[in-house]
Amino acid sequence: MHELGMCEDVLHAVEQRAKGRRVEAIGVRTGAFLMVVPEAFRQSFALVAGGSVADGAAVTVTLVPAAVRCHECGAGFEASETLPVCPGCDGVDVDVAGGHELTLEWLRYSAEPPASAHAATGSQTDR
Ligand SMILES: [Zn+2]
Repeated sequence: MHELGMCEDVLHAVEQRAKGRRVEAIGVRTGAFLMVVPEAFRQSFALVAGGSVADGAAVTVTLVPAAVRCHECGAGFEASETLPVCPGCDGVDVDVAGGHELTLEWLRYSAEPPASAHAATGSQTDR
């Protein structure tokens, strides 16, 4: 479950942007080479986000293929394998860009106040 570590990074980014606001949905872009399984990612995120501003948030995972350029024939194409083969000339002398990014693309805030705000932030109590 290597998704767990990624989800911790994503949650960190979510918390920095949300600044305490309740988040009901997020969109994440993951490079194809990270081999993320969207369902596993959603489950892992639900796990790490429990009790946070993103507790119960829906997660949309977009897999982003890597951009590849062939040195043999100059063709540009997209690939999700780590050792792509040029579809134009079957060449393997290729330049691979991207495929490893993990980006928090968007998030949507909920109108609802956090149900567990006091529990989550500890000593911050309204007086
Ligand atoms: Zn080629």
